[in-house]
Order: sequence, then C-alpha cells, then structure tokens
Amino acid sequence: MSDHSIFTKAVHAGEEPEKHHGAVSTPIYNATVFKFEDLESGAKIHNWEAEGYFYGRLGNPTQEALEKAMCVIEVGEDALCFASGMAAISAGVMSMVKSGEHIVAPEALYATTGYFFDFLRDDFGVEVTLVDAEDSESYRRAVKANTRLFYIETPSNPTVKITDMEAVVKIASEHGLQTICDNTFATPFNQNPLAFGCDAVVHSATKYLGGHSDISAGVMVGSRGVIDKARHLTSKLMGGSMAPEVAWLVLRGIKTLPLRMERHNENGRRVAAFLSEHPQVVRVHHPSLAGHPGHEVARRQMRDFGAMMSFDVGSHDAARTLLNSVKLCTLASSLGGIETIVQHSVSMTAAKVPREQRERAGITEGLIRLSVGIEDADDIIADLEQGLRKVAGSK
Ligand code: PLP
Repeated sequence: MSDHSIFTKAVHAGEEPEKHHGAVSTPIYNATVFKFEDLESGAKIHNWEAEGYFYGRLGNPTQEALEKAMCVIEVGEDALCFASGMAAISAGVMSMVKSGEHIVAPEALYATTGYFFDFLRDDFGVEVTLVDAEDSESYRRAVKANTRLFYIETPSNPTVKITDMEAVVKIASEHGLQTICDNTFATPFNQNPLAFGCDAVVHSATKYLGGHSDISAGVMVGSRGVIDKARHLTSKLMGGSMAPEVAWLVLRGIKTLPLRMERHNENGRRVAAFLSEHPQVVRVHHPSLAGHPGHEVARRQMRDFGAMMSFDVGSHDAARTLLNSVKLCTLASSLGGIETIVQHSVSMTAAKVPREQRERAGITEGLIRLSVGIEDADDIIADLEQGLRKVAGSK
C-alpha cells in the first residue's frame, strides 16, 4: 500500500474485509458494549493490555477502520476519532499542555479555536501568545521558559494565511516543544503536516474529509505516544468520541477525497483568478495568486492550493449586497462540502473576536469567505459575476 498513490490508498485504506465476513465496506458496529470471553481476557482488554473492544466511547471496529485510513492518508502512526473538529482540537491541546504552561498560536486562526484558547487562559491558567504565523520567527520570539506547544493552522481560516511548517517545527524542536497543525483547509490530499515533523494533525472531518455537509466529526493523527496520551486521557475523560455511523460516513468520504480535491483545487484556482481581476474586488486571499505572501511557501509544502479563499469587496454594505444576491453559492456557516458556500466572518464566526485582533488577522468588514465547491467553475463564476454587478449597481 505504501507504494500506491493517494488515489489508490484513499479507496482501500482501513478496509479489511477478512475481519468482517468479507464485507467490502466496513460495517457500522452499533454495539456500545462488547462481551468478554472470560474474566482474565476481559480484564486485559479493559486495561489495554490486550487488543479488543469493550465500550463504545473507547473505540469500536468502525472507528478503528477510519483511524487506520487516516494513518494511511496522513502518513501517521496512530489516529483517534472525535465527535467534532473542536473535540479533536480541545482534547489534543489539553493532552499536551497543563495550567501554568504556555501555548504560541496564530492570531489568524479559526475563531472558535481562538475562543478555546481564551477559555484555557481565563479559566484554566494556561498562557497563550498570539503571533503573526506568516513570520515563522515570531514563534521563536514568543518562546518562554514555560512554553510547551506551538499551534499551527495552515492555510488559516478565513484569511488563508500560510505558515512555513518546516521552519516552525525546526524552532519547536530547538526548544523541545510539541506542535499541532490544523490541516482542515488543506486536507491530507494537499499536505501532510506530519511529514514536516509536526507532532499531531487535527481535522474538522465535518469539512472535506466527510465532504458532503452532512456530519460533524473530528480526527487527530500522530505518533503512537502522542495519540495514546490523548486516547487515555483527554478523549477518554472528556468523552467527545465519534458515533459509528459517522465513522462510516467519514470513511466513505475519504474514498472520493482525492477526486473531489482535484476538482476543488482546479475550481479554486479559476475562481481566485476571476476574483483577482474583478473591479469590485479589493483583495483576494488565495495562495495560488503570485502576490499572496505565502505563495512560495505554499508551493513548497502543498500539492495544490485548495479551494478555500476569502475576498474583500470593500465594505459591509457591499458584502451584504453580494451575499444577498448570490443564487448558486449558498450563504451558510461551514465549508469543505461539494457545494459552494459563502460566509461573512465579521457577522458570523468572528463576530465576538475583538475588533483590533480581527483587523490584525485581516478580517475586514467587506471580507467574504468562499469555499469553492465541485460544481462547474463557469457556473460559480457566473453567479459571483451577477452578484458583483449588483454591488457595482448599488454604489
Ligand atoms: N478547524 C477549522 C479550520 C475549522 O474551520 C473548523 C470549523 O469551521 C474547525 C476546526 C472546527 O470543526 P467542527 O465544527 O467540526 O468542530
């Protein structure tokens, strides 16, 4: 399997028909309780001294199939499923950092991850420093005696900033620190953070991995030691585990991830090019564009640039006109599905982020986040074009 391309791996990874009566699609195991053969073997399984299943929150064969598939496509040793991306992020971070310790994280990142860091700081005594993650050296400058973790999100939500993973991991290893990378926007098709030395990767599998806007799910991938700690500590204690039906849907989503991503990538490049030439658009954030500050780093560390972008139409009013005019693009607060979705970060995800922090992260009043789907790019462009004409007409 390791010689095959990701297109082949994605179809077969995690599937072991011989373990499931020959079933070519891993069945959904709904049992939350597994019978032990006898007390001795039951005690061993219960104490993780022998392989086996015993209780739904702590793993079942459908989740395990997904975990194996994630190890293959993210090129990791072990993986752990969660009920959502935030469950994976919170359990991953809390398995690495204690109160009194310090995290360095990007100031431009998914707003709810930022709110989680505020919560750790305000209620759990964890120190957090936010840095400009486009400048890797800013991670070094933020290191203190109690720093334990560098948190990375690349490309970042919603301003699609690129962090040089190799450079940041090098700084982390010089200081004996761990790194977690949120790889939701890129997906394992476009980049593998573990290959750059990150200790763990987290995903909102709600997005591209599931791919169809119909599940909430999260995954963490890393070395056996890193995952073991999360499995036996934060995941077990906080209990945000994934339902078997959801594990099955994510596993199914992964089979077409490379195909979908090829199309997302192509559409992403075309839509970014269209927007970058449009007179009503002040600025486009997409790493395919030569003027994007992360363009060269993205070329080095990504297979392709993805389909997440944001663009500025100059004002809140212009954003409102466009968002209320689009017909094919769906106004909604998610991303990574097969359908094109638009969102206004200032009014939605980032509404509670203090204005100065929002501005430092590049989240302006006219900024629209765009998750380009797999429809025909001409249709997506035509819809944006008619919406932008209304913006021009309203001025
Ligand atoms: N990470 C990123 C980059 C996201 O965009 C999101 C959600 O939008 C999450 C994590 C959280 O994922 P979930 O909504 O599955 O908890």
